[in-house]
Amino acid sequence: MLRIDVITIFPELFEPFRKLGVLGGAVEKGLLELEAHDLRRFTQDKHRTVDDIPYGGGPGMVMKPEPLVEAIEAIAGRKGPERNARVVLLSPQGTPFSQEVAENWARDEHLVLVCGRYEGIDQRVIELAVDQETSIGDYVVSGGEVPAMAVIEAVSRFVPGVLGNPESARTESFQERMLEGPQYTRPVDYRGQIVPPVLRSGDHGRIADWRKKQARNRTQERRPDLINRDEAQQRKPRGED
Ligand code: SAM
Repeated sequence: MLRIDVITIFPELFEPFRKLGVLGGAVEKGLLELEAHDLRRFTQDKHRTVDDIPYGGGPGMVMKPEPLVEAIEAIAGRKGPERNARVVLLSPQGTPFSQEVAENWARDEHLVLVCGRYEGIDQRVIELAVDQETSIGDYVVSGGEVPAMAVIEAVSRFVPGVLGNPESARTESFQERMLEGPQYTRPVDYRGQIVPPVLRSGDHGRIADWRKKQARNRTQERRPDLINRDEAQQRKPRGED
């Protein structure tokens, strides 16, 4: 079973998050464990300080190494071959998070997500205690909590039993580097916009072909980079990954 621990200065943000929707159901059924830890519990001073001014000057504050490293070691163990947790720092400088990464991490036993705040964290935390850095996109948000929630939701969808229909995760956008095509529900006619007749035909073969074609067209139109990356990958001689 997957256990996810989050290290944050705002653990209360995760309280409603862990109770609702697909994730809430998964936690309640015991399919995955999710706990958010208050970083300030790992401070030693009476003000429970987690940040300090940057060496070399510059704007803002930097997260101090001691509470972060001690929190990670208490929750994940020391960095080294015997540690079985994957410790991930949410960072705009990390490698891009993706559907593929989510599927891989869902096979882990223990994921520890570290949320930065302020101007970021002291580099020595990364050297001493973090295994990898991941980014949710080329923009900067104020803290790692929202990125951590995105990661948790994406990963949890691949944990066996979390989605009622296990096929759901596999037919979604980005599986096989394709966006999903358009979806419709009732009524057939909404303000003159009609559900395509093929979807109402009951002919599963034709429906599957139509969906494949729509997915391909939509991907070509909106995200040609996904198809090109796939084709470039296929042209690459073996061993170049
Ligand atoms: N000064 C840092 C930089 O330029 O790389 C950005 C710090 S940001 C204001 C504070 C925290 O938000 C980061 O430490 C990280 O945990 C989180 N964060 C911001 N943008 C992110 C992104 N795109 N992906 C993942 N985490 C992000």
